[in-house]
Amino acid sequence: MVPFQLVYSDGYYLPIGPHVFPAEKYRRVRDRLIETGVAESSDFLTPEPADDRDILLVHTPEYVRKLATGTLSAQEEMELEIPFSPELVRAFWLAAGGSILAAKCALQNGVSINIGGGFHHAFPDHGEGFCMIHDVGVAIRTLQAGGKIRTAMTVDTDVHHGNGTAAIFGNDASVFTLSIHQENNYPMPKPPSDEDIGLEDGTRDHDYLDALEVGFLRALKKVTPDLIFYIGGADPYREDQLGGLALTIEGLQKRDRLVFEHARRRGIPVASTLAGGYARRVADTVRIHVNTIVAARDVLLQQIPAGN
Ligand SMILES: [Zn+2]
Repeated sequence: MVPFQLVYSDGYYLPIGPHVFPAEKYRRVRDRLIETGVAESSDFLTPEPADDRDILLVHTPEYVRKLATGTLSAQEEMELEIPFSPELVRAFWLAAGGSILAAKCALQNGVSINIGGGFHHAFPDHGEGFCMIHDVGVAIRTLQAGGKIRTAMTVDTDVHHGNGTAAIFGNDASVFTLSIHQENNYPMPKPPSDEDIGLEDGTRDHDYLDALEVGFLRALKKVTPDLIFYIGGADPYREDQLGGLALTIEGLQKRDRLVFEHARRRGIPVASTLAGGYARRVADTVRIHVNTIVAARDVLLQQIPAGN
């Protein structure tokens, strides 16, 4: 059992056929959490798809209309890099609903994890890089519009830069964006985040963790957000097919702990999403994501003195 709520739906499955994106990972993470006794079925909440009004807080009416009517151009579908279908649209609406629910739960319990989402390459007017709808952007905007938070920070540790996040919040002082990523990788170009940490190819655990801690603490000196969204991609892993960093599974779990601990010491709630993960063995990707939930649990259960 975990001391916070997990958000999951079987509807997170992306109907994209054989693909480098392991669409079954969501269900496998959920199953492994249960099998290993980390979580019980009562720990899970089932989200509803986001309301169109919430999606429209981030995305343009024209783009939402194209998705609803299945009228993306061939170029737009190519940029998305996953095959369009009405079922796919529903899965992304559901992921956004899940991130909204996780954000609300995090405000109540300190932490909540959406076993989905983290689609940080989606822009207001188009999708790309397997990301149709920016669930994290939608969740932040929805909570702001509802008066539940005023400010937020995104901490994006996916191996790929959070270009959609930077584009959505680029001119918005209420949301601080941090991205730590492999510099020499998709996307190109990278619109600027508030804190960008671009790492060299092959960066290993120690250097990665140092750079993340320095950047995160620098960000926390500038702002104390009402909520942190942790986009904890599994793809900085050394055996990832789409990543070129060299983190171990242990290093990735230290990364997760680092984020949860520094937030906890400051009393800042954290909502987390899975984002990318393309390890040669899907079981590795699943394990890395499960470890994020374990790290959050351990940090929440331990006594951490206030301060830094
Ligand atoms: Zn990625």
